[in-house]
Amino acid sequence: MPASRHCTQPAPPTDTPTMPALMPHPLPAFDDNYIWVLTGDDGNALVVDPGDAAPVLAAMAQGLRPTTVLVTHHHHDHIGGLAALLAAIPELEIVAPHDARIPLATRRVDDGDVVRAAGLDFRTLAVPGHTRSHIAFHADDAGTAPLLFCGDTLFSLGCGRLFEGTPAQMLASLDRLAALPGDTRVCCTHEYTLSNAAFALAVDPHNPALQARIDEVRELRARRQPTLPATLARERATNPFLSCDDAAVRAAITARHGRPPADRIETFAALREWKNVFRG
Ligand code: ZN
Ligand code: FE
Repeated sequence: MPASRHCTQPAPPTDTPTMPALMPHPLPAFDDNYIWVLTGDDGNALVVDPGDAAPVLAAMAQGLRPTTVLVTHHHHDHIGGLAALLAAIPELEIVAPHDARIPLATRRVDDGDVVRAAGLDFRTLAVPGHTRSHIAFHADDAGTAPLLFCGDTLFSLGCGRLFEGTPAQMLASLDRLAALPGDTRVCCTHEYTLSNAAFALAVDPHNPALQARIDEVRELRARRQPTLPATLARERATNPFLSCDDAAVRAAITARHGRPPADRIETFAALREWKNVFRG
């Protein structure tokens, strides 16, 4: 569990009500997807990327009250449950990027738009690369640690594949996410951390922060616990795809290609291609 501001800040003055950090909760789906749910102080919940309705309907039977769905991109494992959820909750707001491949959206958002859900204001960030219309949602409200729902763009110790974007686009998208506050809790849609760890270690074998993260991840997965959310500060210190300016990462690419990368875009492109063929 990441430390929340609630746990790490000094106690507030007695006349200020305490504000516990809202805890996002991952509902497992398919082999390695997470459908993130977050219930606000008013009891209304948001649901992110429901590729399958069943886990959400099961959570509703336990009291979850979804009012808003946030969709990051059009892939089926992120939208496959929309129709069944809308059938169960006719007034459900479904927020999605402009993309005809995502049916049933009740609201389309652009970069910079603000979506209110679970009592928080989420700012939309366009993050093309995995798909051309991929978006992320970031909340940075006072009273709770910032939250990022980033779909398949940023993973813990990794990043999404480039299905519809160039390395330059994806790197710019990752740069945007990496620039968010370090205490941002990163909620990715897949539990890929352990397999990403093997690649990260091949790239950056002498990084103590990475070693510590891998020890933690192994222990969590041995107990079948999620490795997410991860804090953005920790991702910046451990994720090779956020470290294209790092000397160790450049050195790894130089060793692999026999010459130094021309720039950080080439470093990123080489990392992504290497990861595509890597077998840990
Ligand atoms: Zn995807
Ligand atoms: Fe996915």
